Amino acid sequence: MKISIMTLFPEMCETVLQESIIGRARRAEKVEINCVNIRDFAGNKHNKVDDTPYGGGMGMVMSAQPIYNCFNSLFNAETEVKPHLIYLSPKGKTFNQQKAIELSKLEHIVLLCGHYEGVDQRVIDEIVDEEISIGDFVLTGGELPALTVADAVCRMLPGVLADEVCFTDESHFDGLLEYPHYTKPDEWMGRRVPDVLLSGHHANIEKWRKERAIEETYKRRPDILDDTKFSKKEKQFLQALMENNVSNE
Ligand code: SAM
Repeated sequence: MKISIMTLFPEMCETVLQESIIGRARRAEKVEINCVNIRDFAGNKHNKVDDTPYGGGMGMVMSAQPIYNCFNSLFNAETEVKPHLIYLSPKGKTFNQQKAIELSKLEHIVLLCGHYEGVDQRVIDEIVDEEISIGDFVLTGGELPALTVADAVCRMLPGVLADEVCFTDESHFDGLLEYPHYTKPDEWMGRRVPDVLLSGHHANIEKWRKERAIEETYKRRPDILDDTKFSKKEKQFLQALMENNVSNE
């Protein structure tokens, strides 16, 4: 899979994308990620990529043409299909794990990072396929949102994580938050690791983990709890939580 990031600050993205699991995945060619400087496509002698807003008001707006030229440089319109272009925007649909899985199945995604007041609406209307927000707050630029999306998508690609279980077992993959984790020592500050995790009894450990995941989700995020995939016993467990009035506030 290929991910292109269109930005005015490519070094900011590169620095992050060289590190840790994503850096390793890039070096192992499990994913190709390139950060492209929109300014290189300014097409004027001062490399100007923004201008004042029509109608007046504060701030600057990123001009349409450099973004359009930058995007067109990322693929060959005669031989390749248009890559899926996402504009990171606080007005977009909120990003989640399902969207990460969906995007990880595409061949080439392009992430457009806005800055200042944002981007001229006409280039959004002309080439953008969808707008994605990473939450109901406003950041100074689209780079952190683009890195967030790129990271979440890369983790879903074959061979990026050691094993598929690394993500199928995690929060949000199957509509549940994950069970709690513990590591050595057995006791820390008077707090013991739950006995079942020291028992070596795999079936009991699995049952405990599933029940903790159901309990965590019921308490913290009842809005995402979906019992349609639960076994009869798991449904009974959830029913008991509800009847015992376990607080989900
Ligand atoms: N004027 C815009 C508005 O009120 O909707 C905000 C512009 S913001 C200061 C600059 C850029 O940061 C945006 O163009 C977008 O690319 C990015 N950005 C800011 N917050 C974001 C969020 N929550 N999710 C995704 N992108 C965001």
